Amino acid sequence: MTQAFLEPFRDADLVKGVLHEIHKLTTRPWVIMEICGGQTHSILHYGLDQLLPKELELVHGPGCPVCVTSLELIDKALAIASQPGVIFTSYGDMLRVPGSTGDLFSVRAAGGTVRVVYSPLDAVRIAQENPDKQVVFFGIGFETTAPANAMSVVQAKALGLKNYSMLVSQVRVPPAMHAILGSPLNRVQGFLAAGHVCAVMGYWEYLPIAEQYRIPIVVTGFEPLDLVTGILQTVQQLEAGKHEVLNAYPRAVTQPGNRAAQAILEKVYESCDRNWRGIGMIPQSGWRLRPEYAGYDAEIRFNVENIHTQESEICVAGKILQGLMKPVDCPAFGKLCNPQNPLGATMVSSEGACAAYYRYGRAAIEEPSMPG
Ligand code: SF4
Repeated sequence: MTQAFLEPFRDADLVKGVLHEIHKLTTRPWVIMEICGGQTHSILHYGLDQLLPKELELVHGPGCPVCVTSLELIDKALAIASQPGVIFTSYGDMLRVPGSTGDLFSVRAAGGTVRVVYSPLDAVRIAQENPDKQVVFFGIGFETTAPANAMSVVQAKALGLKNYSMLVSQVRVPPAMHAILGSPLNRVQGFLAAGHVCAVMGYWEYLPIAEQYRIPIVVTGFEPLDLVTGILQTVQQLEAGKHEVLNAYPRAVTQPGNRAAQAILEKVYESCDRNWRGIGMIPQSGWRLRPEYAGYDAEIRFNVENIHTQESEICVAGKILQGLMKPVDCPAFGKLCNPQNPLGATMVSSEGACAAYYRYGRAAIEEPSMPG
């Protein structure tokens, strides 16, 4: 989208007008979760959290693919990338995510071949260009990245490539919403659904969730006006005792979503249980390759299916991503854990809540003192 197209959605007067409405409407405390880490960063970047009524608390959801990729899968990635004859490809964010014993950067420093790609189709091209190497793509993400990742497997099959495979870490939003809302500790009373996920999947999956938990869900975009409009529509419902699914991002989202993308997902993936980093197993919350594409499954090809790990006891990112804590509540925040020395993925990822709090200065951060 061009800058000019986005300009009206960044208009300060329009945003102020919606904020004014929110202030007028809010009569008591409400907890609203923005699902997507991109929304978290946008909220903090524009300071929207500081312009809301004090009664409104925004908590930050699990929609950051780098953050929720399980430690187990990171360790499997490290094991595969360390093997001779492998070119391991990944989005850049994943390179600094700590596993049990290091990260992909440390594998590269030790002589492994780890390359950053911007699309899974780049990884397919690398496989074509390097027939004597095994090329593996780290296929992480939510419903947004899943169609392109799936396409890479379809393309590799069509090209007859025997040296391409994908380490699959696909997760889905609706089961995570069920897990949050079904927890006895849940604090979330309204959701801002992730606009880009809904652009692919539509929002029909959210209708039974809103009904079952009697919770308003508003499909929301990423610009300041999108975000305050999503918050306004959520507060309007909360104050009126309603629990509907509304679409505050109609320029990108329709209720049925992108049927062609959904057809690719159906063709390539089947549902499976997935471990979410810091959160644990969420039933039927992920996708894996269907048996007809199992030949492209890196876990099978490299026999790393039996790697199991233990999460760090220091990192409380799992609680943050369920809305139970804020990054500044973590004793390690800005001290033991910072972007140079991350203890958890949420401090590394460009969509991570801890990284956003650190970057936009939402707490006093201990910097080394200047010599006097
Ligand atoms: S500040 Fe670091 S250790 Fe604490 S929750 Fe965030 S990533 Fe984990």
